[in-house]
Amino acid sequence: MAQEDLFKKLVAHCKEYGYVFQSSEIYDGLSAVYDYGQYGVELKNNIKKYWWDSMILLHENVVGIDSAIFMHPTIWKASGHVDAFNDPLIDNKDSKKRYRADVLIEEQLAKIEEKINKEVDKARKRFGEAFDEAQFRATNARVLENQEKWEELHSRFSKALNDSNLEELRQIIVDQEIVCPISGTRNWTEVRQFNLMFSTDMGSTADGAMKIFLRPETAQGIFVNYLNVQKTGRMKIPFGIAQIGKAFRNEIVARQFIFRMREFEQMEMQFFVEPGTELEWFRHWKEIRMKWHQALGFGSENYRFHEHEKLAHYANAAVDVEYRFPFGFKEVEGIHSRTDFDLSQHEQYSGKKLRYFDPEKNESYVPYVVETSIGVDRMFLQVVAASYHEEEVVGANGEKDIRTVLRIPPALAPVKLAVLPLVKKDGQPEKARAIIDSLKFDFNCQYDEKDSIGKRYRRQDAIGTPFCITIDHQTETDNTVTIRYRDTMEQERIPVEKIREIVAERVSMKNLFRRLQ
Ligand code: ATP
Repeated sequence: MAQEDLFKKLVAHCKEYGYVFQSSEIYDGLSAVYDYGQYGVELKNNIKKYWWDSMILLHENVVGIDSAIFMHPTIWKASGHVDAFNDPLIDNKDSKKRYRADVLIEEQLAKIEEKINKEVDKARKRFGEAFDEAQFRATNARVLENQEKWEELHSRFSKALNDSNLEELRQIIVDQEIVCPISGTRNWTEVRQFNLMFSTDMGSTADGAMKIFLRPETAQGIFVNYLNVQKTGRMKIPFGIAQIGKAFRNEIVARQFIFRMREFEQMEMQFFVEPGTELEWFRHWKEIRMKWHQALGFGSENYRFHEHEKLAHYANAAVDVEYRFPFGFKEVEGIHSRTDFDLSQHEQYSGKKLRYFDPEKNESYVPYVVETSIGVDRMFLQVVAASYHEEEVVGANGEKDIRTVLRIPPALAPVKLAVLPLVKKDGQPEKARAIIDSLKFDFNCQYDEKDSIGKRYRRQDAIGTPFCITIDHQTETDNTVTIRYRDTMEQERIPVEKIREIVAERVSMKNLFRRLQ
């Protein structure tokens, strides 16, 4: 299936099965804002739990907080967001569509990379077992030509970003003959900077209302609480503070479903370290975070690190974890070495000391910070995209059929098991309810008696429920049920007393955490 079609199907599936809805849909929606439905919220909560517990339970020196969205406006002046939280925008004069200039160029780079990969894939098929990829990349004329183009464009682009040279960004777009995908023309405006922060007023005007910002990242709530947590928790450096919460950005381009939203959620952890050790910790967290992603079993070949073209004003090292979405490799998480920039700025703007006294060295310093920052919604999209499968199966009548299944890792699945009476009589519904009653404190269970058993299985496959328990005539005589496994569709007869054990073992987050050790 073409990747574009796959993405469209994913979006439709998310809506049809109660995962994600367009916000304010009955009013024709609000651009780049989404609501999570009955299954979506469960998946989202499970993702958050996987992240939270992996931070808090597995690291005794990481603790959590929950800071307010509204913060003193000077915080955003100190952090640099008021002056520098900008994206370069460009409009196409014919379609009147707005784009991020940097994203247009990144897409051009990705196109060249794709050409190289196609060449490599073709050769792999031709040469089979004997194929030496490294040698092919180093010698094939077409690959080398494209590689050179890529490097030239990449270095020109990095320089323009680092110099904040907006004219040069526009010139690159012109020279690369990049066209607007809507109008197909190259009729571009100048590139302008656009600040991404939303603002609102706090207090009544009579009192003198204060302009405040909706936070564009949760990190600042951690920085301004650094000393509170360090002192009250008697934390010793190195230590981390984790937080999950909403963030808001007035994104210029908002067309990729929940990949880029104007209201979204972040899971961030700031790790405070001794100056000079930050790059070591940066490498450490880079590894930990990649393991966290790969533990889900979506295939290590679908992840990669991407070095930043331009370091943010606060960073001395930065890398993204990218996942291969249906629309290409894209950032899911950023890991940044933020130096002592934020704490020093807050010292300066607030006039309060934000230092750490090292009792062993008998000196105090402003700690350096390594940050891991991941979007809950992007992670959600990663899980759904990786889990969505359409498979050809043979139905009960021997005919071929397509089943759509979400192979969500059981620990994250919204519903863990469905209990299904084969018929709506002979005490089967009551038995099903009794089983649910005995398991409902442990797992999210669902009861379903409508339609044929085959249809019910398909419905649970589409939701991503890993286990279905079916009650039939035999259940009454020997207290056994059929358990059906989502991924293999295998069925097994088991005693009712074994359900808890079988399900508990497979849906436990412990399975994921063990892979992180
Ligand atoms: P991008 O380059 O895609 O705009 P960014 O580099 O600005 O992202 P960060 O500021 O590093 O992103 O934010 C950390 C994480 O927060 C990202 O890796 C992403 O998962 C998430 N995130 C950022 N912006 C959005 C958004 N508009 N919608 C959904 N998630 C987002």
